[in-house]
Amino acid sequence: MEIIHTISALKTVLTPLQKAKSKIALVPTMGALHKGHLSLIKLAQQQADIVVCSIFVNPTQFTDPKDLEKYPRPLEHDIKMLSDAGCNLVFMPSVKEMYPSFPKPENWHIDLGKAEFLLEGEFRKGHYQGVTQIVKKLFDAVNPDIAFFGQKDFQQVLMIKNMVKHFNMPVEIISCPIIREEDGLAMSSRNIHLSETDRKNALVLSKALQYVKDNFDLLNLAQLLENAKGMINETNGVELDYFTIADGETLLPIENKTAKYPVALVAAKVGETRLIDNMLLGTNSA
Ligand code: AMP
Repeated sequence: MEIIHTISALKTVLTPLQKAKSKIALVPTMGALHKGHLSLIKLAQQQADIVVCSIFVNPTQFTDPKDLEKYPRPLEHDIKMLSDAGCNLVFMPSVKEMYPSFPKPENWHIDLGKAEFLLEGEFRKGHYQGVTQIVKKLFDAVNPDIAFFGQKDFQQVLMIKNMVKHFNMPVEIISCPIIREEDGLAMSSRNIHLSETDRKNALVLSKALQYVKDNFDLLNLAQLLENAKGMINETNGVELDYFTIADGETLLPIENKTAKYPVALVAAKVGETRLIDNMLLGTNSA
């Protein structure tokens, strides 16, 4: 497995492969890898000849400097995981490599549509400009045919698809299923910050989502929301930011169950750690 730190070295390795018509997949991550990330690598391996995984803790998508500072960076562990998984190439650039004028912000903006400002966008102002900025730079550097993202970050996948449409980028975006712990907690690099009590309390998020999914055909939307929010609000140490049943394309709350692509999304602070999770509803959901 090759480890590469600069865009020019990356292009030197990838250009001949691209000329030889190898299909290149990109799996962007911020490291602190877990089985959720590895599931993306596996799906990428099934659909491409070469899998590039990027590890870059992107400063422009953090709205809280403390969150950025304490973001876990177990690099050796990550490299071993990727190498064991058979990943072909790891791209680990420095901040200066991706943002030459850092810490001066780059003043360009991508029109991501109205959904940018809902849910996570409301609680983390500018977050999706930061996310799409780095993903655009990674796409420019790697030039992948296909890129894999987790449904765990539901709004992120939507924003990236909107960006790809906006620029008419020649890359296919794949949304991959959420990998959970046995008890239902969605895997996340941030789970490492949960105390034993937080870890138990955090379970209410997936339980409330599952409750909505199980009862979607039985109860009306107001009842579903009231009960799910009630479950979370009754849990000590969990502070709800939002729980919504939304249209998966607009992220606006649905008004009836005939919506084509309903999804329940939640964000809450569990102890000091902010977690997000979601579940697809309706008949087509896994
Ligand atoms: P991150 O390192 O948190 O930026 O995540 C990198 C990629 O892995 C993103 O596309 C995430 O959505 C995805 N991911 C994170 N957690 C999970 C999970 N539990 N299951 C599947 N994909 C995940």
